Amino acid sequence: MRALAAALAALACALGAAAGARAQDVHGRPSREALAVEADRLATQGLRHFIAYQQRLLGVHERVRQAGAELCPGQQRPVLGLFAATAEELPAAYRAAARRDYGLDERPRVLFVLPDFPAARAGLRAGDVIVRFGGRRVPDAVSVLRMGAPGAERTIRVEIERTGRREERELEIRPGCSFPASAFYHDEVQAFAESGAAFLAITTGMLRFARSDDELAVVLGHELAHLVTGGLGTRGGEADADYLGCYFAARAGFDVAVAPVLWRRMSLAHPASLVERGFYSHPPSHERELALAATLREIQAKRSAGLPLEPERGT
Ligand SMILES: [Zn+2]
Repeated sequence: MRALAAALAALACALGAAAGARAQDVHGRPSREALAVEADRLATQGLRHFIAYQQRLLGVHERVRQAGAELCPGQQRPVLGLFAATAEELPAAYRAAARRDYGLDERPRVLFVLPDFPAARAGLRAGDVIVRFGGRRVPDAVSVLRMGAPGAERTIRVEIERTGRREERELEIRPGCSFPASAFYHDEVQAFAESGAAFLAITTGMLRFARSDDELAVVLGHELAHLVTGGLGTRGGEADADYLGCYFAARAGFDVAVAPVLWRRMSLAHPASLVERGFYSHPPSHERELALAATLREIQAKRSAGLPLEPERGT
């Protein structure tokens, strides 16, 4: 007990010393200052995790919706390859850390850009504040994602603020399927296609469950297919989403051969997934796997013949 107390005191001492705060109170417990320093550190780390989740999700999702553009006629928006946020758009627990560590405030600020996507190619980078997008003021980051359905223009003008100075950039317009994706904290293994919100939400539980980007692409393709076809929560809708989802992922260059194993793992880990509604209203596993095997053969045959990956049915 004494050894533990001593170790804790030493730890508190080290933490406090690092921050120049008094480490212990008169009873040898960590001081309020030391606790506050540690809470800040935890929030900093948590926020980095949150950003890493978004980065993994966006890295796959932007590829999938870009490659699937042709499958979303009339439902397109530019693929930007950036993640921005105002402090208020982040989970409440991380807002203070976001203000402190990344200078976030009420304006949408870039937290990362994906290499080779239009935002990065136009020179945007983390820390830039997005002031105007296509000539219009943007109140928050969500409105950046919702703006600018591509017309005939090849580029879109973006005004940014970097270290206090205004700059203008031209972003190349790459059409993709409309629907942006966002990760949110929940341990359940779930993804939602909110057709009303035209948004794709995915839990951190699902991001951990998907072992590879190929698996993640299959999940995102499936959800995207729901949004594109509007088929939600019916068994036919699920089979169609499986079919079209494989095409979405395959067109983006992901290995869709992982699909049957992914859905089998899902049905074994979450048996309820076979009977419930929403994402969980899937056909029985064996039926699903046979249908998927046929879809994979169809895609493979097109690849071998050098044909474009256009689905035979669906959109
Ligand atoms: Zn589904």
